[in-house]
Amino acid sequence: MDSDLRQAINTADIQTLRSALYEILKTVPGTSNVVKKKMGRPTASRARAESINRERERAVYYCSRCEQYLKGRQVLRNQCFYHPGKLQIKSNPTAWPDWQDDEEINMELNKQEFPECFFWTCCGEEGDGKKWCVQRRHPLNMVARVELDGE
Ligand SMILES: [Zn+2]
Ligand SMILES: [Zn+2]
Repeated sequence: MDSDLRQAINTADIQTLRSALYEILKTVPGTSNVVKKKMGRPTASRARAESINRERERAVYYCSRCEQYLKGRQVLRNQCFYHPGKLQIKSNPTAWPDWQDDEEINMELNKQEFPECFFWTCCGEEGDGKKWCVQRRHPLNMVARVELDGE
């Protein structure tokens, strides 16, 4: 760099430097990344991002797949335990009371009231047995933020 130019930059006022910078950004391709890197994020948006992060840490979420409440980053760290299959009626359920047709048998209420008459299609576990056979990450599309009283 020639010393005249160096001196001009060193002694220029901020307005001149700004307009020179804008001019370079406008006319020289590829300069915007260099400038962005040097500038960093504006402090206002950085502060906002930090406050959003803090807020997320305190927030409570509910995963509808494993039916767990999760706090802050547990959403990303904890494991989701669940059955990927479906609860299906056993072919010969001994404990079944007077059952009618398939449609009635597979009602949600029956699955809750007579879990021993159902099995999981993924692993064969009975409806009242182990609550999971697979562990994965919580699927973010099944995780929702919940509002708790007094929080
Ligand atoms: Zn989960
Ligand atoms: Zn299973």
